[in-house]
Amino acid sequence: MKYFTTAILAFGLLLTLAMGCGSSSEMADATACACEKGKAGEAVWCTAHRVGYFEKQQVACEGCLAEKTGGPACATCAAKKSG
Ligand SMILES: [Zn+2]
Ligand SMILES: [Zn+2]
Repeated sequence: MKYFTTAILAFGLLLTLAMGCGSSSEMADATACACEKGKAGEAVWCTAHRVGYFEKQQVACEGCLAEKTGGPACATCAAKKSG
């Protein structure tokens, strides 16, 4: 009976290891398309297509979208204007 218990414990450990490194659902979530939300009126940045939306208008720059939603002025575009 002692061998049987050890076998079950070993199997459980293998199962835990297999589940720990096998999930990739988080990756799929990070690159999910947010364009539908943007077209619906939400202020979002779509990482899948590298385009933003503000009041149903497309915004080409992520920094500008942050500025429109109350964030700091877009550093990327400010540098372009002054230079
Ligand atoms: Zn998209
Ligand atoms: Zn910008």
